[in-house]
Amino acid sequence: MIIVMKRGAHRSQADHIIEKITEAGLKPVPLYGTERTVIAVIGDERTLDINHLKAFPGVSDVMAILQPYKLASSDTKKERTIIKVKNVEIGGNTIAMMAGPCAVETIEQTDASAAKVKAAGANILRGGAFKPRTSPYGFQGLGEEGLKILREIGDKYEMPIITEVLDPRDVPLVEKYADILQIGTRNMQNFRLLEAAGKSKIPVMLKRGMSATIKEWILAAEYILQEGNQNVILCERGIRTFEDSTRNTIAIDAVPLIKELTHLPVIVDPSHGTGRPSLIPAMSRAAIAAGADGLIIDVHCDPENALCDGAQALLPDQFNEVMEALAPIAVAVNKRLANSEIKCELKCVQNN
Ligand code: PEP
Ligand code: MN
Repeated sequence: MIIVMKRGAHRSQADHIIEKITEAGLKPVPLYGTERTVIAVIGDERTLDINHLKAFPGVSDVMAILQPYKLASSDTKKERTIIKVKNVEIGGNTIAMMAGPCAVETIEQTDASAAKVKAAGANILRGGAFKPRTSPYGFQGLGEEGLKILREIGDKYEMPIITEVLDPRDVPLVEKYADILQIGTRNMQNFRLLEAAGKSKIPVMLKRGMSATIKEWILAAEYILQEGNQNVILCERGIRTFEDSTRNTIAIDAVPLIKELTHLPVIVDPSHGTGRPSLIPAMSRAAIAAGADGLIIDVHCDPENALCDGAQALLPDQFNEVMEALAPIAVAVNKRLANSEIKCELKCVQNN
């Protein structure tokens, strides 16, 4: 950290800050210039509060050198985190394809969707049992009944299941059935929920808050990591901007940036990211080309009658087309699709 004093700040003001830094167990190195004084801080500056220091008399600016997060940082852990969920790896060379209905409605509907997405090459089944609906009058999910259905269908098709947990009190119930806990955009900064998920033994996929900066999102992940759960997956699902032609604005640049700043796997949700089925194929390809470790896509056999988010769901055939189009992209970024019959070789064309 660098603390820059104002021009003409009194020496006693710099001394006061030096004293505070020393009290915090860090080493202050003051550089007294002719115009102004600069204090460099040596040690783990993350224990200091930048805004608190900015409020000290005589301070002009305070600049952090380290990122505010530690456990998620790629500086702390050089190798990338690969998360193993049953027979699936997330963060390695195989692309994790999570697909299924937005909400579990009935066993037949979940079965139909699972059968189709599995056949198309998806390797993780998604489905909400606790739905975070904007309106209290919307379908809220089947609760435990929905978890039981998802578990049964996941087992039938040998697919690990991912499902959302809304409330810290429900973590023990949801982890009894699920293979991955999903924390949704609306709960990204529900700190008690993050802590409860951090105490869980199963991986957690943390969706980006719809108005969260990258830094806030990583700090939210830090809450989970700090509780001992090292298996955190980040999911870019679009942010809210002035644009209203799409449901959200999908930030594909978040993918390489998360990879640069952290060691955690990153997944993209083009369904919630765009809200428009016609845009999902291109955004899926873009996400994988940008280095995403996987995708999560809403697939419903009868979107017209879906109880949640039918307007953004892909039909199974459309999902199958997405999978086929992803195969060469995966190869181009040295990855492969799991469970897929689709084989693809990139041919080198020589221009002699
Ligand atoms: C979901 O994936 O079902 C969901 C509700 O997503 P989000 O939290 O991104 O809105
Ligand atoms: Mn949805």
